[in-house]
Amino acid sequence: MPELRQDPVTKNWVVIAKERAKRPDDFIRKRSVAEPHVCPFDYGNESMTPPEVLAFRPENTLPNSPGWSVRVVPNKFPAFTPENGSETTMNNFYRLRKAYGAHEVVIHGPEHNLSLATYPNEQVAEVLRAYILRLRHHEEQPYGNYVQILINHGKEAGASLEHSHSQIFVTPIIPEVVRNELVGSASYYNENRRCVFCDMIEQERIISERLIDRTENYIVFSPFAAKLPFETWILPMHHQARFELLTDDNRYKLASIFKKTLQRFYIGLNDPPYNMYLHTSPRGYDKPESYHWHISIIPKLTIAAGFELSTGMWINITSPESSAAFLRNALD
Ligand SMILES: [Zn+2]
Ligand SMILES: [Zn+2]
Repeated sequence: MPELRQDPVTKNWVVIAKERAKRPDDFIRKRSVAEPHVCPFDYGNESMTPPEVLAFRPENTLPNSPGWSVRVVPNKFPAFTPENGSETTMNNFYRLRKAYGAHEVVIHGPEHNLSLATYPNEQVAEVLRAYILRLRHHEEQPYGNYVQILINHGKEAGASLEHSHSQIFVTPIIPEVVRNELVGSASYYNENRRCVFCDMIEQERIISERLIDRTENYIVFSPFAAKLPFETWILPMHHQARFELLTDDNRYKLASIFKKTLQRFYIGLNDPPYNMYLHTSPRGYDKPESYHWHISIIPKLTIAAGFELSTGMWINITSPESSAAFLRNALD
């Protein structure tokens, strides 16, 4: 029987309808071959992107030249720009505002054919360092109240270039999904005097059927009310609202478990397209005790259709328990 499950943070309902599905291994991807083209993210093609705003490179190399290990550039076709101004205006009946903010690309490394699942841990840790430095930078700027870091990996997941990269969106408003999490977690805290994410971690440790991986510092599991097959969350075991407060030691430990989690997808599902996103506390958020940063990874294996669009409710055709078991064993 399909069942309705409630997300304990946002109180949104999800339909788990595993009868509609196939087994987890029916999702393993059949690969298509990419066409060769000139890639603006390769060494020697730095002039094809806007000038870099951050790069990790030896001191004897020039900006916008080869030699870098991670490079951050403004998006060539930005969704948000710092030039616009923040005022809200009226157009007769309708209210509108400029897309004031920023939109950047983090190029994960110079190698065209590697990705976070196949880079060494040190390179993944450098990508996380770029996230932290850009989060800190954007928090100092007049524009933008929320920084959304995400990866679209693979064409089906929305990537226009196959070279491994992340995107950073800085938005003038707090987006709806994040706002629902902030409101839901604050309300849980008011009632229980506890962080709902910390309580969820406790549950997943005890129950363990949705557990994928665990270290002293991090836990990886498929959430109880997973919206989509193989939805996977990574959270720090110890409460922390802001990602950019990670210590270097914890950043290296996160790089290791993050890469290992992506390897589970890479090996288990044959490098599927996926979306990854980081949810962290907005700047100046005054309830850090109730919010807990987390990373979500969702492979793009199904297509949202009329029911999802019309209701905002998801039907997940694979139970998070079977997704977790599949990913738990993917590296064996
Ligand atoms: Zn490339
Ligand atoms: Zn917490």
